[in-house]
Amino acid sequence: MTALIYSDEYKKHDTGNHPENQGRLNAIMSSLKNEGILDKIDIISPKPATTADLLRVHSKSHVEEVKSLCESGGGYIDYDTFAAPESYEIAKLAAGGAIQTADFALKNNEIAYSVARPPGHHATSDKSMGFCIFNNLAIALEYLKAVHKIKKFLIFDFDVHYGNGTAEIFYNDPDVLYISIHQDPRTIFPGSGFIEETGSGKGEGYNLNIPMAPSSTTDDYIYILDQILEPVASKFNADFYFVDVGFDGHVDDPLSSMALTDDFYGYIANKMKNIAGNMALILEGGYDLNALSRCNVKMINTLNNIMTEDYYKQELNVSENTQNTFNKITDVFSPFFEF
Ligand SMILES: [Zn+2]
Repeated sequence: MTALIYSDEYKKHDTGNHPENQGRLNAIMSSLKNEGILDKIDIISPKPATTADLLRVHSKSHVEEVKSLCESGGGYIDYDTFAAPESYEIAKLAAGGAIQTADFALKNNEIAYSVARPPGHHATSDKSMGFCIFNNLAIALEYLKAVHKIKKFLIFDFDVHYGNGTAEIFYNDPDVLYISIHQDPRTIFPGSGFIEETGSGKGEGYNLNIPMAPSSTTDDYIYILDQILEPVASKFNADFYFVDVGFDGHVDDPLSSMALTDDFYGYIANKMKNIAGNMALILEGGYDLNALSRCNVKMINTLNNIMTEDYYKQELNVSENTQNTFNKITDVFSPFFEF
């Protein structure tokens, strides 16, 4: 990895003692500093996305509503999504950070990482929700389409929540393959992300959900991702890769019931690097500050070839739920992909 896109300005999205607060980015940045990682990579300050950038993804009314709420002092957009007076400007900065991350990765044929907040993957084309104001990744993707004429994209999202906003935005688009592994939607926000949600119209077959039972482990994730990611990515043959990076599936995370260990973040970094080569990583969730710090270090060190992955030395212990989920995915996706 050669660039990290970050600004201290993100702290102005001041959510108080909300679980999604600036303490998260402070924890990540200070652990990267303590580990000497910040000395080895470029830190780039983001520039805000323009209104035109936002409008490639969001409705004018959505953008105007956020702007006017913030101008009138801010407040809750819904029961769990807060906007401070500065949040409109900072949400534009987070979207601009995603654009710069994608732009850097493309131009330099490298890996770049946007460490930003507010996060984005729950924001739909016309609604802020789930701590997300604008959909940072979707805005960066549409920028690459419009400005650099990139055609085919693969998005892999391993945040523990389904990225319903990202899925909705590209639901009819056969040139954007969205693959999400997340906690079973019957047990967690946002309540969607079932296997049967496969995309619609021309986009049918290009929305691949991997819902995992609560308490699924690193072994369960490796078992299923090893069999799905490579064959699907190789058949789809994307021009550019985004990874929605969420650390809230960690066993210590307060917002989920998943049982991932630190090892998962090394595994997935290695796996995506092998599949994609250059790619843009976009930060989403992760709410246990210690796990968030350690797993970011592990992910980045793996991307920088500082750690090698020895996970395969163990035999995988896989639950029946996970085997059933894999079987169901192969059934539902058999018209589209071979596993
Ligand atoms: Zn999440």
